[in-house]
Amino acid sequence: MKFRSLSFKLTAWYTIILAIIITLAGVFLYEQFKDSLMEDLENKLKETAATVYETWWDKKGVTWQDSVNKADEQFKMFQPYIQVIWFPHRKEKDKPLEFFYSSAIRGEQFHLSRDIYYKAKRMDRSDPLYLTVDLDPPATYPLRTILFPGTGHDRRVVIQVGMSLEGTAAEMRRLSIMLILAGPLLLFFASLGGHFIIRRALLPVRSVVQAAREITADDLSLRLHSGGRRDEIGELVDTFNQMIARLDDSVKKIRQFSADVSHELRTPLTIIRGEVEVILRKERGKEKYRQILQSILEETLQLENIIDDLLLMSKLRAVDKQMLMEEFSLDDVLLKVYEDLSPSAGREKIQVKLKEITPVRFTGKRTLIERMITNIIDNAVRYTPSGGEIEISLTHGEGGVELTVSDTGIGIPSDALPFIFDRFYVVEKSRSKEAGGTGLGLSIVKLIAENHGIEVNVQSELNKGTTFRFLFP
Ligand code: ADP
Repeated sequence: MKFRSLSFKLTAWYTIILAIIITLAGVFLYEQFKDSLMEDLENKLKETAATVYETWWDKKGVTWQDSVNKADEQFKMFQPYIQVIWFPHRKEKDKPLEFFYSSAIRGEQFHLSRDIYYKAKRMDRSDPLYLTVDLDPPATYPLRTILFPGTGHDRRVVIQVGMSLEGTAAEMRRLSIMLILAGPLLLFFASLGGHFIIRRALLPVRSVVQAAREITADDLSLRLHSGGRRDEIGELVDTFNQMIARLDDSVKKIRQFSADVSHELRTPLTIIRGEVEVILRKERGKEKYRQILQSILEETLQLENIIDDLLLMSKLRAVDKQMLMEEFSLDDVLLKVYEDLSPSAGREKIQVKLKEITPVRFTGKRTLIERMITNIIDNAVRYTPSGGEIEISLTHGEGGVELTVSDTGIGIPSDALPFIFDRFYVVEKSRSKEAGGTGLGLSIVKLIAENHGIEVNVQSELNKGTTFRFLFP
């Protein structure tokens, strides 16, 4: 658990990256330091060589040996190896090179090959030749050597100065030890600090987790406090709260729905029970029995309708979008509904007119679309008094295919219009001409329309009529 925690992972990553950075910085520091020590040493070499050269050049009668000795004395603390190589005059090419040494060179060979001296002779004085060479026999540390060219009495000269790299090596060793000790120590404290900061930063997450644990389906009123944070944690808390609010809302809706369903189922049951109790109280005539059984049958049908509608609604909610796909002729469906409902309209002496029916192909679930149209036309029949008229049309409009069902019925009061698609909503019980309305018809219409991306509009005027308009995508 601990090793899987975010703070542990972040600290580990942070430490790894830091270790890489510290190592790179150490290497860089080491190289820089080495370069600068080398540059120091080379400056000393150049200074010594220049002193030898200038001492000889400035004063008449001073020999090369004199100036070597003087520089040797002056730079004693650096224990230089000094050697002057004097080339013969141009006209006396066959003559050998002349060498002058400082005191340190006795016994040890500090000579380099003639080729190197000839090469050094031709170099520019401002950019002399530097070499790292071994003494012969070799000492523990090699020498850093300058080959400094010059001219005297028309003869070329190369002044060679060497100093041991021992001091430089010792300084580098000291730096290495320091880096090797300080690096891990730095890493340790930086990781510790990092871990502390990361833990602190993640503290609000812990409190979110804690609070989230206390939220249950029974108590969705709890909200987390973001403490006015505007950062990612604040955003997380806000999002979480919004989610809880939505859940809260859903749970409330479900509870309300259960209450509504219970109430709606209870009403017919109460009626049935009342009728049965009445009938059982004493012997009745045959006609009375018939009347009461008829009433019980009606209430049972009503119960059945409600349960069917509820089942359909729960199916519609869970409907799989893929399942909807099937292409069919919308005008065929419309005509079928028309034929199915014509007899009941005829009984009510309501004229149903097909105004304009254009052939239209539509992709969706045929049975559901049929149900949607049935509910609408059935409502039109039920809420239109005898002698009224219903007009149906299916056309290609600007926004797509439009299905319109208008009636000359009792209309819907404008204050009730916003609610007619709600579950169990009925404008007024007494408006229905017959039993059978469950208050679920338009809810089902709305669900089917939503599932198919169909837009629904209603216009209604009280006592004049109602028009339902469907816009198919
Ligand atoms: P019901 O089963 O009561 O018809 P609906 O959900 O189908 O339930 O309709 C809700 C309410 O809307 C109805 O109670 C009715 O008052 C009103 N309504 C629906 N269609 C019409 C219409 N064509 N004319 C007048 N009122 C209507």
